[in-house]
Amino acid sequence: MKFAEQKDQEESLNLFTSTQIVIKEALTKLGYHEEMYELLKEPLRLMTVRMPIRMDDGSITVFTGYRAQHNDAVGPTKGGIRFHPEVDEEEVKALSMWMSLKCGIVDLPYGGGKGGIICDPRKMSLAELERLSRGYVRAISQIVGPTKDIPAPDVYTNSQIMAWMMDEYSRLREYDSPGFITGKPLVLGGSHGREKATALGVTICIEEAAKKKGIELTGARVVVQGFGNAGSFLAKMMHDAGAKVIGISDAHGALYDKNGLDIDYLLDRRDSFGTVTTLFESTITNKELLELDCDILVPAAISNQITATNAHHIKASIIVEAANGPTTLEATKILTERGILLVPDVLASSGGVTVSYFEWVQNNQGYYWSEEEVLTKLKKVLVKSFDQVYEVAATRGVNMRLAAYMVGVRKMAEASRFRGWV
Ligand code: GLU
Repeated sequence: MKFAEQKDQEESLNLFTSTQIVIKEALTKLGYHEEMYELLKEPLRLMTVRMPIRMDDGSITVFTGYRAQHNDAVGPTKGGIRFHPEVDEEEVKALSMWMSLKCGIVDLPYGGGKGGIICDPRKMSLAELERLSRGYVRAISQIVGPTKDIPAPDVYTNSQIMAWMMDEYSRLREYDSPGFITGKPLVLGGSHGREKATALGVTICIEEAAKKKGIELTGARVVVQGFGNAGSFLAKMMHDAGAKVIGISDAHGALYDKNGLDIDYLLDRRDSFGTVTTLFESTITNKELLELDCDILVPAAISNQITATNAHHIKASIIVEAANGPTTLEATKILTERGILLVPDVLASSGGVTVSYFEWVQNNQGYYWSEEEVLTKLKKVLVKSFDQVYEVAATRGVNMRLAAYMVGVRKMAEASRFRGWV
C-alpha cells in the first residue's frame, strides 16, 4: 500500500487548522488574550520561490519551494527542509509552527521555521539534487542565515544535501558559514550524535512513558511505522534495549513477526529511502500494522495515520509520535479516553532539533564536543521536558498534546509580549 502517496490538500489543511485549534486552546488555558492568538496563529513570513533547474538530459524544470518562519521573538527561526512531491504551502506553515513548539518545549533560543520543495528525490540523479539544493539556497538567501533562520534535514533530505547548501551559502556570502545549516557531515562541522538524535529523543520518551505505565522495556512488544531516519534508528535502539520489535513498515508495506524481527538484517538490506519490505513476499498492510497487539506503538512515518476510524482498534498502551502529526485531534481524544498514554510529536520528535542546536553552538564556538557529551546533554534536556509536560498534563487535567502545546507556546508568547509586539 502506498501510504506515502495518500496525503491530499484537505489533509494538510487539517494539519494546519488542527495546529491552530490546539495553539488557541493552549493560549486560553494560559490566560492569554485573543491578540496573542492572532499573532501566533500563522507564520510571520512565508516565502514562495520558483527555481529553474537544468536536468541531466539538458531540459529545464521549474521547481516550487517554500520557507516559512513562524515566530522569531525568541531568536532566529530553525527547522528542516523537506523534498517531497506532496509538499504544499499549508503543510510547510503547519510544520514551522510545530518547530516553534518543539523549540519552546526543549527550551532552545529559537523560533520555528520550515522549508520544502515540491520534487521527487527518488526520481532525481545526485547531480540534479545538487543543482536543486544550491538553487534553493540562492532563492531564499535573503531571509536565511546563522542569526536569521537556520535550516536542517527533514523528509528525504540528508547530510549531503546540507553540505551542498552550506557550500552555496558560504560562496554567496564569501566566508565560511557552518552555522548556516545543521545536520551537516562531521567533517564540515556536523555534530556527533545528530544523525540518531531524533530516534534517541524518541527512545528517551519511550523509557519515561514506560516508567509511568509500569512497563518493562526488556521483552516489551514494539511496533514502528516507518523505516526512514527516525524509524530505522529507533527500531535498532529498541532492539538493542531488549525490546521485541514485532512490526515495521515502509512506504510500500509492513513486516510482522510475533517473535521479533531481525532488525540488524533489515537495516543491512534497506535502501537510502528506507525501503525494505519489497524484498519480502509475505507482508501486511499499514492498517494492520497499526492495529497489532503490542505494548508500544511508534508512528515514525507521515501524518494522519491514527484517525477516528482506527483509534478504537489500537491495542498499544503507549503511543510515542516520532513523525510530525501522525494522530488527528479526534483520535487523540479517543486514545486519551481509552487510557492510552500518547506522547505527542512536538515533544517526542524534538531530539533532532536539540542536537541541531548543539551543532550550531559548536559551529559558533569553533569548538567541538564528543559524542558522549552531546548524548548526555540531549538526555538531560529530553527527560526534563518530558517531566515538565507530564506534570502540566497531570496538574491541569489535560492530555499530553495540549500540555506540550502549553509548555511550547509559553516562551514565544512571553518573548513577544516583552518585545512589545502584543
Ligand atoms: N526536521 C527536524 C524536525 O522536524 C529537525 C529540525 C532541525 O534540526 O532544525 O524536528
